[in-house]
Amino acid sequence: KGERLRLPPWLKTEIPIGKNYNKLKNTLRDLNLHTVCEEARCPNIGECWGGGEHATATATIMLMGDTCTRGCRFCSVKTARRPPPLDPDEPYHTAQAIAAWGLDYVVLTSVDRDDIADGGAEHFAKTVSNIKERNPKLLVECLTPDFRGDLAAVERVALSGLDVYAHNVETVRELQRFVRDPKANFDQSLSVLKHAKKVNPALLTKTSIMLGLGESDQQIHNTLTGVLTNKRALEFIYKRTKFSYWEKVGNDMGFAYTASGPLVRSSYKAGEFFLKNLLK
Ligand code: SF4
Ligand code: SF4
Repeated sequence: KGERLRLPPWLKTEIPIGKNYNKLKNTLRDLNLHTVCEEARCPNIGECWGGGEHATATATIMLMGDTCTRGCRFCSVKTARRPPPLDPDEPYHTAQAIAAWGLDYVVLTSVDRDDIADGGAEHFAKTVSNIKERNPKLLVECLTPDFRGDLAAVERVALSGLDVYAHNVETVRELQRFVRDPKANFDQSLSVLKHAKKVNPALLTKTSIMLGLGESDQQIHNTLTGVLTNKRALEFIYKRTKFSYWEKVGNDMGFAYTASGPLVRSSYKAGEFFLKNLLK
């Protein structure tokens, strides 16, 4: 009791604080916006926000509040049946903030809002179009909920002008019910990714899987086969495991990009990867 948990060295990282970092932090406060980077105390914040001369500055903005209508076991976000209503100015404020930051790549994500008819798809889409109106060159990724499988909602986001449509399957098929909220499931998530690609083939779709939850190698292989289609990106995140092995497997299978490592997050260095490797 009272002892601090010591992190293994491979999970430790320096947090460099640059000019960009302070600029982002101040605008966020002024406009009352939330980022996953801060809420989740992500260890990559200095690297992602810092950008710098040779790097690509990325930030992940969390839309639609800090309270989720679901309760996945791996997630520490607050849960409520009826979170506070959406802020109608958020799409505009987000675009305003992002324009001021000079980012290259932004990830928009959200809590799940099953209390709203379209799950917040219109809110996502408005945010994307506001950003693109101000800065057409900025690359935008949306990491969306499954919208309870509502394909019209997926379509609204997929046709909003974004560049990368991300939705996480989170874990292998067999562990879905132990890891995710009961309203989520593997096939529903797959249908989100497939539909986004179908209505907008120019999009890059992307998904992430946490490793180290007890899944077998065969189950991981089956999951990869299930999610693989042309130009889809894949990320393995979390616990220490055979990262380089799975990175090679993903690349050999034909994923356009595979990121695998202990500090990898859905949005980790997203700008760098997608801007430099895939979207050109
Ligand atoms: Fe967390 Fe997303 Fe699950 Fe909500 S849906 S509990 S935000 S992982
Ligand atoms: Fe933010 Fe994602 Fe980078 Fe973490 S990895 S700092 S959440 S953009």
